Order: sequence, then structure tokens, then C-alpha cells
Amino acid sequence: MENRRQEQRLNQDGQNRTIDYLRISVTDRCNLRCRYCMPYDLELKPHDAILRSEEILRTVRAAADFGVRHLKVTGGEPLVRRGCTDLVHRLKETGGIETVTLTTNGVLLPTFLEELKGAGVDGINISLDTLDRDAYTNITGFDRLGDVLKAIDLSVASGIRTKINVTVTQQTPPRDIVRLVELAKDRPLDVRFIELMPIGFGADLCSLDNELIRARIRLKYPGLAPAGRSAKRRGYGPAQYWIIPGFQGQIGFISAIHEPFCAQCNRLRLTSSGFLKYCLCYEDGIDLRQILRCGLPEQEERRALFGSFVQAARKKPERHSFSEQERITEKTPMSGIGG
Ligand code: SAM
Ligand code: SF4
Repeated sequence: MENRRQEQRLNQDGQNRTIDYLRISVTDRCNLRCRYCMPYDLELKPHDAILRSEEILRTVRAAADFGVRHLKVTGGEPLVRRGCTDLVHRLKETGGIETVTLTTNGVLLPTFLEELKGAGVDGINISLDTLDRDAYTNITGFDRLGDVLKAIDLSVASGIRTKINVTVTQQTPPRDIVRLVELAKDRPLDVRFIELMPIGFGADLCSLDNELIRARIRLKYPGLAPAGRSAKRRGYGPAQYWIIPGFQGQIGFISAIHEPFCAQCNRLRLTSSGFLKYCLCYEDGIDLRQILRCGLPEQEERRALFGSFVQAARKKPERHSFSEQERITEKTPMSGIGG
């Protein structure tokens, strides 16, 4: 009991937010070239700069000591990392960790879905910004829409909780928004609209206010309404969920700029090279790789990593500054952070 009370104090930050969610980027490599994320071949981190699975697991053990309960495996594209499904399995087995979910572009998902299910993954988010084949190729640089659609159906059929993440720009055709929403009509999946953030190459494009997206959806589905507080919890992130009568799935909105959720932010981010970030907007963080590679005895290393999580929670800023370009200090492209 005393331990639990102490734990609650430790993973509470200066704003009384409970930090229990860690996004782990397992690679900065990707098999797509999305124009707002990695529009062309970028300089990649050398392989030995990327944390090995053992190092990620040691970090997560310390994160769990601190109070992290939910993990999101991301990238780059996590499924291009060799052994990604085995890592998911081992993360799931880590004491204290309650859920492990994965964010993927879906291209390799048909190949790895069974392994992920066997690993016990709790949910899969598939990124998909359009249902138009030419537009998809234009956004991502590759003609792989067919693979992603197959991945969505396989993921739903496998019984794994599936969410579609749509990153919208002002160029997204209104017709596309409604077609994407309709993926949730006859399938038990949620479609979530993510406001583009001015990070990396996203700064060169214009985001679309989620209120405008809702207005477009209402033209065809006037019954669109907030799911309300009593609705079943659908994850550990900041999405606000809405319902459309007759739809199996719900529609989520993640609007970092127009409807900021900093007051409820519950997360830290670990980059593929082991940098523990406090907030997407700023470059600040702690180099955990240095701790992991300086040859400390096991318990000492665990304490040092644990201390870094406590320090990260203390240093987590109150809010982002996405509306003030000059205050954004993060220069790393999103593929290097993990979204
Ligand atoms: N490759 C995987 C994928 O695409 O899902 C995981 C990594 S990707 C960086 C994670 C998410 O970040 C994707 O849904 C992507 O659309 C989103 N993303 C990338 N750049 C963004 C930006 N500037 N603003 C908002 N979301 C962004
Ligand atoms: Fe790759 Fe995901 Fe970035 Fe697209 S959004 S380039 S799929 S990491």
C-alpha cells in the first residue's frame, strides 16, 4: 500500500498529471515516404545507435517501476525492424505493463499479424489518410493501398482491437473524409482524425481543424454526436470519441492544436536511439542510451533509469507551443520520434 502511494507520487508530474504511458520508437526506418513525415530518403541513424531489444526491455522495466503501465510501439515503421513481434511479446511479459499496442502503416501487417496476435498485442493502429489509390500513392510514395486495406480486414477479423489513424491536411478531399468514416459503419473499428502538427515536414503543410472535419461528416451523417463520458474507454490516449447512429465503430478526434489536451497529457516518448522526450514540441529530454551503455551493474542501472523517468516527469512542460512557430525547438522529423 505504502509502495503504491509512493509510486503514485513519483509518476505524477508538476501539473498533477499521472504519467503512465510510454511511446517507444523502435526504428527510424520506414518502407513509405509520407510527405508530412519522411518525404524522401533521410539520413538514418547508424544501426549501433539504435537501442537493442535488451536495452529497450531494461528501460521498460525501470519505466514500469516508475509507474508506466501502457506502451505504444511505433517508429518509423515498427514492422521493418527485425524481431519486432518478439519484442512486443517480451514487452507484454514485463511486470507492471498492462497493455502493449502498435502503430503501423499496415503494409507489412498481413505478414506479421498472426505473430502479433500470438505475442498478445492489445491493439493495432493502422495509419491511412485516403481511400483513393492515386492519392494514397501521392501521399506515401508507394502504390500499397491494397495491402493496407487487406491488413485492416485481417486485423478486424483477428479480433485485435483495430483503429484507423487519419492524418488530415487541407488538401484532403472532403469526399475522402466521409469514405474513411464509413470504414467504421460495418466494422468494429474506430476511425480517428489526427490534426497535423507543425513538427518536421508537417510544418510545411496546413492542418485542418477537426471541427471542420466534423462539419463535413455531419453533411452526410447529421446524427454525429459526442460519445459522452459514460462511453466505454477506448484507449489511453487523448482522442475524443463521437458516435454515428447505426455505426459499429466510433469516430475519434485528436486535435493537438485546435483542442489542446496538454492538461491531460499522460505520456513520455523514447526515440529509437534511446532519448527520453518530455513533449513532442521541444527537443529537451534525457539520453538513456548513455546510461544503458556505460557498464553499470544491473540494479544500479535500473535505479539510474528509474531516476531518469522521475526527472522526466518533473521536467515535462505544462503545454506545447504549436501555435507559436518560434517556440517549437524540436527539429527531428516525426519518423525519428514516433508520432
Ligand atoms: N509508421 C507508422 C505509422 O505510420 O503509423 C508509425 C510511425 S508514424 C510517425 C505515427 C503517426 O504519426 C502516423 O499516424 C502519422 O500519420 C503521424 N504523423 C506523422 N507526422 C505527423 C505530423 N506532423 N503531425 C501529426 N501526425 C503525424
Ligand atoms: Fe513512415 Fe509512418 Fe512516417 Fe509514413 S507516417 S513515413 S509510414 S513513419
